[in-house]
Amino acid sequence: MKPPRFAYHDPATVEEALDLLARHGDGARLLAGGQSLVPMLNFRLARPAHLVDINRLTGLATVEVGGAGGLMIGALVRQRALERSPAIRERAPLIAQAMPFVGHPQIRSRGTLGGSLAHADPAAELPAVAMALEAELTLTSARGRRRVAAEDFFVAALTTAMAPDELLTAIMLPPWPARTGSSLQEVAIRRGDFALGGVAATLTLDAAGCVAAARIVCFGVGPRPLRARDAERSLSGASPSDSVFVEAGRLASAAVDPSADIHASAAYQRRLAGVLTTRALSASLAAASAVAA
Ligand SMILES: Cc1cc2nc3c(=O)[nH]c(=O)nc-3n(C[C@H](O)[C@H](O)[C@H](O)COP(=O)(O)OP(=O)(O)OC[C@H]3O[C@@H](n4cnc5c(N)ncnc54)[C@H](O)[C@@H]3O)c2cc1C
Repeated sequence: MKPPRFAYHDPATVEEALDLLARHGDGARLLAGGQSLVPMLNFRLARPAHLVDINRLTGLATVEVGGAGGLMIGALVRQRALERSPAIRERAPLIAQAMPFVGHPQIRSRGTLGGSLAHADPAAELPAVAMALEAELTLTSARGRRRVAAEDFFVAALTTAMAPDELLTAIMLPPWPARTGSSLQEVAIRRGDFALGGVAATLTLDAAGCVAAARIVCFGVGPRPLRARDAERSLSGASPSDSVFVEAGRLASAAVDPSADIHASAAYQRRLAGVLTTRALSASLAAASAVAA
């Protein structure tokens, strides 16, 4: 199938793009890397009257380190650039750890961070990573600018808190805390496929080697990424051990509410959330211990 007819626009500035969105509203769709949108057009799952190509907005394709040491990542940064960025590896290693799981290098060389977040596939890695990193997303429209916490951005499968006239322009990450390790674990049928289930985690140790903070986000096991807060709380102040991580896995498994699909039963996905939480915490501990040493 080929896409239905649309009017093509390639604005050179953010202002022009916002003006097009304001004028065409629901009838317009933004084109970033096209790795999700183009298949949707070809299958006629999306039928926008106007396609607004944002690839000329190169000002949205930068990674910048903020004064306090956090990161400001432009929405148009390619996934492959994230994978290769020394600043990302140093200041948001969870993103670098996630990238090899996102499709294949060819897809990542076009796909963007903003496109993945805006598409909000429940099985995608980057939305879960954004939640685990407590990212704030900057949404810009002709009406102004607002910031939304990643946790509030993902509403349901393929649905976000963005209005039709808004452009996701930047992803802000707080500074990476000291003595912190992270890990992304997932199970997919083949390498590069979307996950049957996965977990993104970070673990911060205090000076005595106990858990100061943990963040656990399960994905692919429900309509949106889910922060497993009971599991996180169970770790607070604990001396890290296999049994503590198994208990956190049990709590994460209890927190998710998956629906069976053609690939996996609900019971399998629930078990996956628990097992992968335990694995992600063990790997995060190893990484945190390595930086604390
Ligand atoms: C074969 C294949 C395998 C894949 N495997 C995986 C995988 O394992 N894991 C994974 O996470 N992804 C996977 N993907 C998807 C890939 O990561 C996409 O790149 C990503 O989901 C969308 O990013 P994009 O830049 O291509 O966005 P596009 O396809 O251009 O856009 C996607 C949606 O986001 C909107 N949008 C884009 N940018 C913005 C913005 N700045 N502001 C507001 N809205 C915006 C668009 O209007 C559209 O609705 C796969 C894709 C393919 C083709």
